[in-house]
Amino acid sequence: MESYQAERERMVNQQIAGKGVSDEKVLEAMRKVPRHVFLPEEARAQAYLDSPVRIGSGQTISQPYIVALMTELLDVHPDHRVLDVGTGSGYQAAILGELAEEVHSIERHPELAVSASERLESLGYAHIHVHVGDGTQGYLAAAPFDRIIVAAAAPDVPEPLLEQLAENGRLVIPVGTRFSQQLEVWDRVGDDYKQRKTISVVFVPLIGKSGWES
Ligand code: SAH
Repeated sequence: MESYQAERERMVNQQIAGKGVSDEKVLEAMRKVPRHVFLPEEARAQAYLDSPVRIGSGQTISQPYIVALMTELLDVHPDHRVLDVGTGSGYQAAILGELAEEVHSIERHPELAVSASERLESLGYAHIHVHVGDGTQGYLAAAPFDRIIVAAAAPDVPEPLLEQLAENGRLVIPVGTRFSQQLEVWDRVGDDYKQRKTISVVFVPLIGKSGWES
């Protein structure tokens, strides 16, 4: 365990702070959450490397730097309610759980949702709720959200996600083709939305009614 802590410290210093993420609360969360616990047993040695890792069902847990950067862009406050689209392993949800009052996370693969939910519960994250469903439609039962983060690539910004943003809400989402996207930040200002594009990224496809067909 102690060596994992040291590896995490190194991950934050070299791969995250070292590449320009400076929000101290985000760095603290990345130091704290045990990333190896979110990986299949046989992949745990890769937990603190500077790369994405396969988690089963054809899906991947994002590179630590991308998780940190997206979380920094999201600008989560302690009183926020957050929607996390694409639960996968639950790692991003745990990072959000360190920063927000309540997290709803939605995943289309039931088996990933079940194992992420069990993992988050065993780590004590009682304020993170995992749901099975099509996250391109948001999660109406708990809307509106102060923040929404999407960890899969959309062809266009799904309209329901914009609609489920609270006043002054923010959405961070990769938008583009199936092979390359740009990370977009959308801010709700009254009934208007302001959009800006940031870095190029590569995510697995967002599959659903307002995403890719398959
Ligand atoms: N955030 C995750 C990594 C996500 S990988 C982590 O920290 O481990 C992207 C995930 O989005 C995959 O698990 C994939 O099944 C899921 N996904 C794709 N389309 C989706 C949709 N429409 N609704 C919910 N989840 C979706």
